[in-house]
This record gives sequence, structure tokens and C-alpha cells, in this order.
Amino acid sequence: MQTTLAPEYQGTPDGLAAQAILRKCVHCGFCSATCPSYQILGDELDSPRGRIYLMKQLLEGQAPTRKTQLHLDRCLTCRNCETTCPSGVDYGQLIDIGRKLVEKKVSRPLPERALRWALKEGLPSPLFPPAMKLGQALRGVLPAALQAKIPPRQDAGIWPTRTHARKVLMLAGCVQPAMSPNINSATARVLDAIGVQTLIAGQAGCCGAVKFHLNDQNGARVQMRANIDAWWPHVEAGVEAILMNASGCGVMVKDYGHLLQDDAVYAVKAQRISALTRDLSEWLPELASALLGKVRVKGQRIIYHPPCTLQHGQKLRGSVEQHLTALGFDIRVARVEPNLCCGSAGTYSVLNPKIAYPLLERKLENLQESRPAVIVSANIGCITHLQSGTATPVRHWVELLDEALSSPH
Ligand code: SF4
Ligand code: SF4
Repeated sequence: MQTTLAPEYQGTPDGLAAQAILRKCVHCGFCSATCPSYQILGDELDSPRGRIYLMKQLLEGQAPTRKTQLHLDRCLTCRNCETTCPSGVDYGQLIDIGRKLVEKKVSRPLPERALRWALKEGLPSPLFPPAMKLGQALRGVLPAALQAKIPPRQDAGIWPTRTHARKVLMLAGCVQPAMSPNINSATARVLDAIGVQTLIAGQAGCCGAVKFHLNDQNGARVQMRANIDAWWPHVEAGVEAILMNASGCGVMVKDYGHLLQDDAVYAVKAQRISALTRDLSEWLPELASALLGKVRVKGQRIIYHPPCTLQHGQKLRGSVEQHLTALGFDIRVARVEPNLCCGSAGTYSVLNPKIAYPLLERKLENLQESRPAVIVSANIGCITHLQSGTATPVRHWVELLDEALSSPH
């Protein structure tokens, strides 16, 4: 798609990057078939192709409106369209640029600004864990809608105390330790079982995704730099990897190198951090071969929901099903629409419930078609969102692996 940049965007990094991405789009519309917002709303402007047009118009100098902003907001940033696109259009990068440029020109009504501010400052804040504890204590008397967003209190179990020569860093995450602390400790126990020690750098915090996707891109970069500073001594000491057990954080940290490429101080370090970052599932080949014969698997049917940030964002597909099956788990993906977003998408389910909840219902119907005993996923946002709509337990796959390891032989 030929784009003639308006003078204000000519020669700018955003303008040039967007122009190169737009050039690849041949306007075929294949992407619409797998776009969740288009599936729910049926409006061309809520499809990837429609949004690409809106962003092209913006870059060519047409003034964006609230309507432009609304259609860009309704995108879940699931990047399913990237997986479908035969021309390799980097839609994820384009929508980041488009949203940033629109935000500069279109102001939001005060209640919307206030909600977005509360989410971007509240979720990564040190006040979130005590607020979650209070919510959990009052859970029984809260309205059902709020109750569904607060998981019951969970025991994290024991953090392994053995030291090993092999070490990895792990990002604890901002909301995960408060909402589902067993995921991190289960990861550490599973790694301990193969002789790898898990380190958490105390000063590292939110990966930056919450702020970045709420258009506070500078605030997100402050968090990225703080994480790099916290991790750097461990990187220099020779950790093997920076492991992510929340795919939404993983996709962000793998992008630090790109997002800080113009930062004179942090560009090189950011590239090194991204190169070292792995989703936990990328360690499954090693975990599965080391743990073969050491796990006792319950014969229960498990359905796996691969998060969009894993299958579309990080382009990692198939590993969880393949390796857990090799270990004896009865695990499969849904027969229908395994590639479609569950509607969680970070803060999306709070900001766009009219799209997020129909997507959740559709996803749960597909996941529960075969009446599984448990649903597993790989991202805290998806796990919490899915759990809010079903009585079937929803867990991280590493928790099942940890339990199978701890079961007496
Ligand atoms: S599938 Fe790719 S090339 Fe076709 S319209 Fe969508 S983004 Fe453009
Ligand atoms: S990222 Fe997801 S919601 Fe957004 S346009 Fe692409 S497929 Fe649709």
C-alpha cells in the first residue's frame, strides 16, 4: 500500500517505520477472518485492514477523530492478524505507532482518562498486593462481578532452597505474585528438579506492558530501564536465561532491544536482555527430557489455551502440547478456534467489556467442549479472565508439572 507521509511525519522514526509496514499490506483482507474484534462487531473499521486504512489516513495528514481512536482502542493487540497475513505485515508495531500518534491529537473524556490512569498506575504499584489481599479477605461479600475478578487466596508452597551452579533469572511480574503466587514457586521447584536455580532480582518490577499499551510509552520505558538495571549484575554473573512464565511479559521484554534502540545509554544492554529472554515453554524440551520417568501424571483431560502473546506475539506454537504429551499428560488444544483471543488482553477486558466478555464466552464454550477436568494456559491475564467465567479450574501448565513431580512414586 503506497503511503505519502504528511510533512509532519516525513523523516521521523515513527513515520518511516509505519510507511515501511504499510508498503507490505496488499489489502487482501485475509486477516479479517481471524480478527476477534471483527468477529464480534462485524465492522470493517474494527478489522485489521480497516484499522490499517485509518492509520494510513492519519499518516497522510487526515485529522484523527474520537471515532478513529475508538476503532484503534477496540483492537486487542492479539496479533492474530500477523499470523494470518501472507505478506508479513508487522501490524503490532503499526498499531503501537498509530495509537501513540492519535493520542497526541485526540483528547479523551475525563472519566476515560481517570480509568486509564488508575489502571496504568495501580496495577504495577506496590499498593496492588495489599489491595488484592483486602479484596480476597472481603471476597465473600463482594458483588459477583467483582468477585469474579479476584481469585481466592492461594498458597505459594515452598520456594526451593538448594543452590545450583546453573542459574536463571525470572521476572516475578507485577500482578502475578499477588493473584497466583504458586505459579512462580512452581516454576522454581520444577527448575530446581533439573538442577537449575531461579533468581528473582528484587528491584525488577512490571515489564512495562501495562503502561505501554495504555499509551504511556515513556512511563513504560522508565520501567524497562529499571528492570535492565536490576538484571544487569546477574547477566554479568552469567545467568543462562531470563525466564518468563507470563507470555504477556515475555513478548514485552523480548521487545526491549527494539523499543530502546534509540537510547544512547541502554540500547546495547536492552538488546542483550532481549536476546537472553525465553518463555518458560522454550525450556520444555530440556525439562521434558530431564523429567521423563520422574513425573506421576493424573489421568485427567487437560485443555490448553495458548495465549495470543505466546502463539502470535512470540510465534511459539506447539511446544507445551508436544512436550507435556511426551511426559504422559492428556493435553490438547480446543478443536475450534484455538488461535482466537479469550478477550483478556491486559487491561482490555476492563476497558472494553462488551467485546471481551462475548469473546470469553465463545472461548470457554470451545475449551469446554470436551469436558476437561482442568484448563491450562501460560499467562496470568488469560488465566484470571478464563477463571472468571467457569467453575472448571484454570491454571498455569507449570503448576500441573510441579504437582506431577511432587506426587509420591
Ligand atoms: S492479510 Fe496482511 S496484506 Fe492482507 S489486508 Fe491483512 S494485513 Fe494487509
Ligand atoms: S491485533 Fe487482534 S484485534 Fe487487533 S486487528 Fe489484529 S487480529 Fe484484530
